[in-house]
Amino acid sequence: MSEVRDVVCPFCGCLCDDLVILVEEGKIAGVKNGCALSITKYLNYNRERISKPMVRKNGELEETSLEEAVNRAAELLANADYPVSYGWSNTSCEAIATGIELMEEVGGVIDNTSVVCHGPSVLGVHEVGHPTCTLGEIKNRADLIIYWASNPLQSHPRHLSRYTVMARGKFRKSRDERTLIVVDVRKTYTARVADYFIQIQPGKDYELLSALRTAVRGEELEQEEVAGVKREHIEEVADLLISCEFGVLFWGVGLTMTGGKYRNIDLAISLVRDLNAYTKFVMMPMRGHYNVVGANAVFTWQTGYPYAVDFSHGYPRYNPGETSVTDILVRGEADAALIVASDPASNFPRKAVEHLSRIPVVLIDPRWTSTTDIAEVVIPTAMLGIEVEGTAYRMDGVPIHMKKVINPPDGLKPDVEILRMILDRIRAMRGG
Ligand code: SF4
Repeated sequence: MSEVRDVVCPFCGCLCDDLVILVEEGKIAGVKNGCALSITKYLNYNRERISKPMVRKNGELEETSLEEAVNRAAELLANADYPVSYGWSNTSCEAIATGIELMEEVGGVIDNTSVVCHGPSVLGVHEVGHPTCTLGEIKNRADLIIYWASNPLQSHPRHLSRYTVMARGKFRKSRDERTLIVVDVRKTYTARVADYFIQIQPGKDYELLSALRTAVRGEELEQEEVAGVKREHIEEVADLLISCEFGVLFWGVGLTMTGGKYRNIDLAISLVRDLNAYTKFVMMPMRGHYNVVGANAVFTWQTGYPYAVDFSHGYPRYNPGETSVTDILVRGEADAALIVASDPASNFPRKAVEHLSRIPVVLIDPRWTSTTDIAEVVIPTAMLGIEVEGTAYRMDGVPIHMKKVINPPDGLKPDVEILRMILDRIRAMRGG
């Protein structure tokens, strides 16, 4: 049995880079340093795999050659009037860059999973920016950590031990030197280990953020209770925030996808800005998919916009709500779709899935999912971070090289190569 050391985990936005993978006869036999999520991913990486490209004929998916699948995908996308593309958060930056080129070539819309998670965070940050830093600085310096509407012990299990309350930093060495505050609608696993748990009424984040701002600025709160939290408790927490040396606010989709949406983020940014009049305070969204930050970064470099980019006018346009893929599908406007490393059929709104099932879908993904069942063309790929290498961005925007651990099954190529083949085919069809 051999060991591959310093492997980067391709699961959540923490991108833990200290995994040790045990390999026996070309297969993964064990994982050291991983959390339950990463161990499950590595030990089951080969389940539900698709081994051959498939094209739908007479209503059934039939195995075919890679060349035929690529040709069919190229035809469908090139001949569509308004194709859309979605996914991109579970693949490499190199693949994302090629996908943007492809969708620009066919004059379609390209969107990533931000549209269903931290899109409102991005919109809030557009307004005024946000003070942030790396996870390394938080590990070394933060003495007060807030998780707002986020439950990292279940969604990002090593976040606390690698980067926050339980991390051994340069200047903060133990749990006793850090205060943990959790704001959530229920007592989550993370709330159980918090020093202060603030149980907020569902959908009242905006109200509580406003009340905290009021208290932080030394103004009097008139209400006895805001969002289900007593005035004394709000004032006590405001005192804690002001008196820390280095504070950080992490927020999850519980803040972005509830009433208020990007206005919640706007207000959270304002709170952190107010706190910087007294102390050092930063903030960071808890990004889920391991390369969703990379998707936002590459989209922005190449088009100027982080998601929901529409090339149908011949130049990039961005107007979430109008140019987001979910909205386009709900309105029934798209006439073909390219899905990469995602399963929208299992989590998009019902009307969007209904339309997706009516139009030709090209799916590039290693596994069989609900989206496979409605796809016209399916091209399986090798897995980034396990079978192929590439680049991904950690939740704090630090680019990290993902290692290859084992060889992919015969015939499976990385996403970036498949996308390049489709793009080249489209260009050849157009004579250029
Ligand atoms: S916390 Fe996230 S990146 Fe780290 S090992 Fe667990 S699943 Fe992987």
